[in-house]
Amino acid sequence: MEILIVGPQGSGKTTQAKLLAKKFNFQFISTGDLVREFATQDSQEAQSVKQALEQGELVNDRIVAELIRKKLARNDSQRGFVMEGFPRSVDQLKYISPNFDKVFYLEVSDEEVVKRLLDRKRADDQPEVIRQRLRLYHTFTEPVLKFYEKLGKLIRINASQLSGMTDEQSIQEIANEIDKQMESLVNNKGVNLGASAKR
Ligand code: AMP
Repeated sequence: MEILIVGPQGSGKTTQAKLLAKKFNFQFISTGDLVREFATQDSQEAQSVKQALEQGELVNDRIVAELIRKKLARNDSQRGFVMEGFPRSVDQLKYISPNFDKVFYLEVSDEEVVKRLLDRKRADDQPEVIRQRLRLYHTFTEPVLKFYEKLGKLIRINASQLSGMTDEQSIQEIANEIDKQMESLVNNKGVNLGASAKR
């Protein structure tokens, strides 16, 4: 099974993708993690990736595709994978086009994104860089959502912090929403949930 979790920066896509991977014993693939790791290497290409990260620009499509290919080749799960961070644009699908069974779109407003990221304090979470990443998201990633919507694969999940809830409760609420959708998919595909699936 191949699942995509998509949403703006700060929507909680990494957290949800990890939870889902753990629950179903899927491989977890985060292109953000892959490029950040690659950027620490000592090569000219790594330097260019580091620069893109610092400026909130997209990393070269070919490099991202190569990192994903390598990660897929090291696949440690027979059951499939949960991906987050790719595709960032419809163009990227020319390099690798996974056959996603479902695409979960975590919806959060720009306002909330900025607020959350300023709390997160990651190196690339500077106000100017956040705004640049949001611009790219609206221009290039939103068409990806439309693409999967047309294929009937997109499921919208409200990922805003719900009033009166702690972060933990919100995360759990969103995870429950995703679980509900996964259940019907799992039943159709006959995937067997292991003991770790019982949360
Ligand atoms: P993320 O962890 O998903 O927020 O990604 C952090 C940064 O990694 C982005 O701002 C991009 O610079 C880079 N990145 C992650 N995924 C991709 C991708 N699919 N294509 C190009 N750049 C990416």
